[in-house]
Amino acid sequence: MRALVVDSGKLSLRDEPTPTASAGEVLIKVSLAGICATDLEILKGYGGFKGILGHEFVGVVTIGPDALINKRVVGEINCVCGRCDMCTSGLSSHCRRRTVLGIQGRPGVFAEFVTLPERNCHLVPDGVTDAEAVFTEPLAAAYQVLRQIKLETKTSIAVIGTGRLGLLVAQVLAQFPCRLTAVGRNPRTLDLLDRKRIRTSNVTEFSHWGEQDVVIECTGSPEGLPLAMRMVRPKGTIILKTTCATPTPADLTPLVVNEISLLGSRCGPFSDALGALARKQVDVQSMISKQMPLSEGVAAMSLAADPNHIKILLACNT
Ligand SMILES: [Zn+2]
Ligand SMILES: [Zn+2]
Repeated sequence: MRALVVDSGKLSLRDEPTPTASAGEVLIKVSLAGICATDLEILKGYGGFKGILGHEFVGVVTIGPDALINKRVVGEINCVCGRCDMCTSGLSSHCRRRTVLGIQGRPGVFAEFVTLPERNCHLVPDGVTDAEAVFTEPLAAAYQVLRQIKLETKTSIAVIGTGRLGLLVAQVLAQFPCRLTAVGRNPRTLDLLDRKRIRTSNVTEFSHWGEQDVVIECTGSPEGLPLAMRMVRPKGTIILKTTCATPTPADLTPLVVNEISLLGSRCGPFSDALGALARKQVDVQSMISKQMPLSEGVAAMSLAADPNHIKILLACNT
């Protein structure tokens, strides 16, 4: 099968053996895959991953139990042992022995086929298109934020970064009564949110420094945390979503002096994301810049790195 492989900072389209599903796993024919910032960072060296890239997908199960066969599925990316202290205490996404789809120790989805544990798969509701379903994983990561903070009507909350993840986080928060501002520097993505009646501010015009109860950092850049520290109020909370290859060079003194709570945030609940897509509560369609065949995967990855594009999708079996 064809697959997009990363090896020591180089990306290439290769012929790879079609994987075989082991016990408890299914074989999935990948329909669409999404390119995200993490993929771009892995290419720059984040996590030292080598192999087939990609973790956001929708596909059809070709080998698996009757309940899943020929069904459209999306999949959770953490493949866990079920026995370690994290797994047995209900924190399996932090499994000590986990592999992570296309990120850590497990081939990803920029390929014609992929295997995944059966228990990682979620059926895609009929009313959700493939182009929408491929956003389930990043949308779930956006929903994770709601499990980490208490939102009230008076909560002032800034989402910084209006790229792929920031656009999703802002749309998720906009469903709840709170004082939300999305702060970014790209007029095109800010405009996308404006049209959804979400309050936005260009970072160059932002004036409420040191006033936000909560800042959600989705910049994808090492400059995100220093910026978040300037925005948050004393005793406020910063949620960090960025994972990048370049370390964050930040003086952390403001966190100490202002007694800021700093929370990391990674994967989230697929059920919430699929529910929101089914109810059309989050618009992902307008985030799709282009769909390209897997054979043009190398070019697609460079397009995804261009800030003029938001989401690039790969059609993996055309
Ligand atoms: Zn991702
Ligand atoms: Zn475990």
